[in-house]
Amino acid sequence: MVVKTVRGTSDILPCNVDTWQALELVSRNLLEAYDYKEIRTPVFEQAGLFQKSVGESTDIVSKEMYVFSDKKGRELALRPEGTASIVRSFIEHNMHTQTLPVKLYYIGPFFRYERPQAGRTRQFHQVGAEAIGVEDVRLDAEIIDIAVQIPSKMGIKNLKVMLNSIGCKECRPKYIKQLLGHLKNKIKNLCADCNRRYSTNPLRILDCKKPECIQNVKDGPTITENLCAKCRNKLETVERYIKYLDIDYQIQPYLVRGLDYYTGVIFEITHSQLGAQNVVAAGGRYDNLIEQMGGRPTPAVGFAAGIERMIMLLAHRNFQSNNSVCLAYLDFSMDERVFKFLAELRQNGIHTKTTYQEKTLKNQLKTAAKSNCKFSLILGANELLKGTVILRNMKTSTQEEIMMDNAVTIIKKKFPLGGFRGM
Ligand SMILES: [Zn+2]
Ligand SMILES: [Zn+2]
Repeated sequence: MVVKTVRGTSDILPCNVDTWQALELVSRNLLEAYDYKEIRTPVFEQAGLFQKSVGESTDIVSKEMYVFSDKKGRELALRPEGTASIVRSFIEHNMHTQTLPVKLYYIGPFFRYERPQAGRTRQFHQVGAEAIGVEDVRLDAEIIDIAVQIPSKMGIKNLKVMLNSIGCKECRPKYIKQLLGHLKNKIKNLCADCNRRYSTNPLRILDCKKPECIQNVKDGPTITENLCAKCRNKLETVERYIKYLDIDYQIQPYLVRGLDYYTGVIFEITHSQLGAQNVVAAGGRYDNLIEQMGGRPTPAVGFAAGIERMIMLLAHRNFQSNNSVCLAYLDFSMDERVFKFLAELRQNGIHTKTTYQEKTLKNQLKTAAKSNCKFSLILGANELLKGTVILRNMKTSTQEEIMMDNAVTIIKKKFPLGGFRGM
């Protein structure tokens, strides 16, 4: 039997990787411009980390987490999300002693055992950021701004920003009491999950997608109407700041998040073309989590965006760079001068394709024409003797003879700035 990828996972093949790399580059550049530094935490942690932070009663921890014992019997989990590990790291490395806020970002794989469907895989990738240590609504607005900017900079349009507040330690318990009161006589009408949520995690009944649950929730009290003055004020201030940034948004009174650690303002960014799994990015404030995880009381806000979902929305776009040259050479053998010239081009960051097989010059030029190269460099016997090379523009078919020694400088001038990977 041929071994294949595990259900819910897939290879990101070279033919698709340009979009991934473009998205990662845009994300990094943007996050660094907003003064976030990358953090890389392990992909597996003690299972208890997620039980304590994301919450035992959440779907993520109770149903979807990959938990396993290692050879010493330690209970470990593949990380199902990013924030818990960053909070662990913040506490473990005493980052509260650094200049606050500590601004961190990550890009990487996460794992959840869910039924695979479009936009939902068991290994998925997220880019996310956390601003830890300062309670300031401008950071909430900044996080929302970045979460909008990343897909926007990639050319994704028609994003919908939905905003809500799930209140604080003061107003949330009061609201939950009201909600439970409202649903008390309707429990039998709710779906099986919501029957469980009624006693374990009632806020999540609000964002259940089952029609029977929507029906029973919609004439009840909303948390947005029942916020305390402080929470109301914070929500309104975040609204004011994102208006300054010209971000279109809606207040969505049934918006809650599937993780227990959120407090206060939360948001989701959706796209209608994605179908059932329509959330591109989401996040919000989690002011109690660090204390709850054993650190000192520390406010924080963050977001995560789904890379696969953004890639789905970019499927029609081509991010392939054509800043490459093809080197074609005569005589069926790679002369040492040709080999050295090839290395020189590449050492100078020029993306150079060539053949390592015995092919005629004509054949090599045919391959070059098909290969999306901007230029061909043609080295025949005459050119080698003179120390020259023919530089042919593949689009216009015009060509010029240049000195091999000047080739790097001349080619670099012909490519737009920044067209070279890492050079
Ligand atoms: Zn409140
Ligand atoms: Zn339900």
